[in-house]
Amino acid sequence: MRITKVEVYKVTLRYREVFRIALGASSRTTNLIVKIYTDEGMMGIGESCPSRRITHDSIETNLEALELLAPKLIGVDPTRIEYIHKLFRKLYGNPSIKAALDMAMHDIIGKAAGLPVYKLLGGFRSEIVTDITIGIKSPKEMAKAAVNLVEKGFRTLKLKVGVDPDEDVERIKAVRDSVGGDIAIRIDANQGWSVREAIDVLNKVYRYDIQLCEQPVKYNDLEGMARVKERSPIPIMADESVHDAKDAIKLVKLNAADVVNIKLMKCGGLHEAIKIASICESAGISNMIGCMGESRIAITAGVHLAMALENIIYCDLDSDLLNLDEVVAEGGASIEGDVRRVPDAPGLGIKGLKEDMLVFIKRWE
Ligand code: MG
Repeated sequence: MRITKVEVYKVTLRYREVFRIALGASSRTTNLIVKIYTDEGMMGIGESCPSRRITHDSIETNLEALELLAPKLIGVDPTRIEYIHKLFRKLYGNPSIKAALDMAMHDIIGKAAGLPVYKLLGGFRSEIVTDITIGIKSPKEMAKAAVNLVEKGFRTLKLKVGVDPDEDVERIKAVRDSVGGDIAIRIDANQGWSVREAIDVLNKVYRYDIQLCEQPVKYNDLEGMARVKERSPIPIMADESVHDAKDAIKLVKLNAADVVNIKLMKCGGLHEAIKIASICESAGISNMIGCMGESRIAITAGVHLAMALENIIYCDLDSDLLNLDEVVAEGGASIEGDVRRVPDAPGLGIKGLKEDMLVFIKRWE
């Protein structure tokens, strides 16, 4: 089997409401969709959701990266995923477009094998439970949003915090008071606190039964995060601090977190994600799988990975649910309450896209 054609499209997705985290606010996302075709009539789909602030890339740099990577893929057997990632490594950065290509390649490999991607990669479980994220607002507004989401069937809430330590405590208290004791609460400070503030807040909110705290301090302060971990009664999860497998090794050496949040957009796709999970599992560190502003395309790939690997015990695969616009026409990951499943179909199981939403950019053949 050989790759004959690579196409890239742009899609803009509006959020249901302005989404605010400690790093900034946004109301929409512009993503790239890639389609890879083979001489055996198979087509794979992938998606990139670049972020200057987190993945340190953008639509512009993604397209420049594709100018270099896409021509190299023509004529290559897409099942040679290890070789393809060797080609990718020759270009520094741009993990989100590498993730899109990797996802499309796995879609093809699954179709060629007649297996869903999660069965190719490990097949550990048949469904996952996702949390749902609440952006930064006033304590009262966050409590109201929480009640609404619990009524919709979500049993795990992820609260964005990290703006002001005292207000953050109020936000967490307001949500816990409004939803009662049966709902799991995770918090994500997106690097918003100093080491001292993080230790202080986490000791204050321990009484509200917080499952874990994500990225309390600056992404490049692993020593600081290790100090927070040592003095926090709440488990610490690294997100922005760990992009790829090499970062995971650094984190393990410094014993800087209890959990690592894997994102396909940060690490460059399923292939690297498995390496991160292997390192973490061997070091006794659990994984979450998270997301950026992806549509249901990349979310579907995330659900496959979470279903495949035992070490991914937490899922934050909700960005498609926060979007107003839907680009998948048929197939892909479903949601029922807070349970996500994928179709029992070869590859990613995405059967069709809303083609009229896609803006064609370029084709390589
Ligand atoms: Mg995070």
